Amino acid sequence: MSEFKLTTVEEFEAATARLLETGAKVGADAWQFRVKNQTPHCKFGEEGVCCRICTMGPCRITKKAPRGICGCDVHGIVGRNYLKFTAGGSATHSDHGREICHTLYESAADGCYKVKDPDKLIRIAKEWGIETEGKDIYDLAHEVAETGLMEYGKPFGTQRFLKRAPESQQELWEKNELAPRAIDREVSCSLHMSHMGCSSKPEALVKQAIRAGLSDGWGGSMMGTEFSDVLFGTPKPIETEANLGVMVEDNVNIVVHGHDPSLSEMICEFADDPEMIAYAKEQGAKGITVSGVCCTSNEVAMRRGIPMAGNFLQQENVVLTGACEAIVVDVQCIFPALGPLSKCFHTKFITTSPIAQMPDSEFIRFDAHTAGEKAKLIVRTAIENFKNRKPELVHIPQMKQKATVGYSTEAIVKALDGVTNSQVDELGTTKPLLECITSGVLRGAVAMVGCNNPRVRPDLAHIELMKKLVANDIIIIASGCSAQAAAKAGLMDKRAKDVCGAGLKRVCELADIPPVLHMGSCVDISRMLVLAATLAKDAGLHISQLPVVGCAPEWMSEKAVSIGNYVIGSGIDTFLGVDPYACGSSEMVEILTNGTKEWVEAAFTVEKDIEKLGDAMIAKIEEKRAALGI
Ligand code: SF4
Ligand code: SF4
Repeated sequence: MSEFKLTTVEEFEAATARLLETGAKVGADAWQFRVKNQTPHCKFGEEGVCCRICTMGPCRITKKAPRGICGCDVHGIVGRNYLKFTAGGSATHSDHGREICHTLYESAADGCYKVKDPDKLIRIAKEWGIETEGKDIYDLAHEVAETGLMEYGKPFGTQRFLKRAPESQQELWEKNELAPRAIDREVSCSLHMSHMGCSSKPEALVKQAIRAGLSDGWGGSMMGTEFSDVLFGTPKPIETEANLGVMVEDNVNIVVHGHDPSLSEMICEFADDPEMIAYAKEQGAKGITVSGVCCTSNEVAMRRGIPMAGNFLQQENVVLTGACEAIVVDVQCIFPALGPLSKCFHTKFITTSPIAQMPDSEFIRFDAHTAGEKAKLIVRTAIENFKNRKPELVHIPQMKQKATVGYSTEAIVKALDGVTNSQVDELGTTKPLLECITSGVLRGAVAMVGCNNPRVRPDLAHIELMKKLVANDIIIIASGCSAQAAAKAGLMDKRAKDVCGAGLKRVCELADIPPVLHMGSCVDISRMLVLAATLAKDAGLHISQLPVVGCAPEWMSEKAVSIGNYVIGSGIDTFLGVDPYACGSSEMVEILTNGTKEWVEAAFTVEKDIEKLGDAMIAKIEEKRAALGI
């Protein structure tokens, strides 16, 4: 076995600098340059104190002008902006979940989409009170999908999956009117409340932000995750690789980017087709390599072991390698910059969703009915583009790390069975993990999530925080671009146990796991909610009592705000490295960092100094341990 070494952020940056040199030769733009053009940012926007929700404005709050034209004060303006921010994120995740429900509805025994995990489908159907006995699995899939789709607009009741939470959490939601009703209703209610002349009371706005967030976490995202598992299989530990070095110079490189596995799964399926591989060879390539960027990459890595080319701020780098035949995207987190950038190379920038249409792209509309035919067309288009490469521009940084991914909640419980004495203890529970935490072998767990953001040196916060936490015997569960940062660094290689404290190292050896567990994409943060709920129920505690915290050190999107709201809404203290445009209002800061504890027993901490952010998380975990007397 070769000697194991983590890859450093300096090494990532040197590789990027080399790629930017190629970019300079062809006149390509890149985010590194656009950031300079936008800096310094507008202070009113940064503090959240500007309002443009009616045409009496835009209004900006200053000492001399403490109210907008309608009379709204700074707290109302910051609060409304915060709620709109959340609603955008909740809508985005939830629409993703809705698409997956539609894909499930289209599944058929002889169709493009099949039910790969019938047991999980039956489990969910039973959970929802749907009769399963004697039913054809596809009739059941359609019934479950339709019931799921009703979660978006049902006139009465609250989200079905809320019942997965411990009763104490459900009681808090009921008592404080936070239990999300229909998903779309929460998004639309948020936009109603934040309209000119509606709510300007920070408490009401934050409460609605939590409710809209919860409709995402325990609604849209959870359905997105659960039904993706039903359709494409529940992830199990699988080996893969991460970083740009996964692209293969002699092969046709197809990069999938975006979020919805309905597209990326089909692309992978056809890229594996012997007919397509033979065609690629005819065109002069040795084969076809599919790799991924952002969350769709996480989806196909978790289920198929497809390698991860990079995370959010690496999306331009895949094109800058000069070896990307096609970057195929669906929705969310796709830089419109990819259009003009691709034009500087031979790369085809293929958009596929009516939701995300961009200039300078080739639009191949993808939907469940024509999925096979469209995926085949996309793969053929990429293959035929291989001959158009400009060899003088090709440079793939030879940098990659091995990673073991695929830690769904089911897979984590299974891994824990490996350390259970089956003569004495029951299998299939989280008890071994609770025992490790109670005995102090593990101090606790941190859920690391979220994006990259040029405000924070990309990937540094993710990687440095993870290193610090694992050295302190804190296990990490990760998703989204945070997970990819960990994989690129090597923290998902099982050999990374050697950078852990003695307790975590021992657990990694016994359970045969890496210290950072990849739980999937951003919608898969719902897996973390289920895991936290199960741990709390197994321990007989409130979620808020567990020595577990959430962290998004480099977050940037509206979706991340929605996530933050549902994570604190679920009783998990959350640590942010970037301010959610709220610092302009003392009342909003007070509510977000303290006031929410009264409703959900958790709150945010915002700390831009990464060292201090890590210390604060460790201190919070130790505080929770002390309160439990462990
Ligand atoms: S709308 Fe606000 S953030 Fe945008 S430029 Fe004007 S003041 Fe700045
Ligand atoms: S809602 Fe009020 S603060 Fe906002 S732009 Fe209109 S007048 Fe100005």
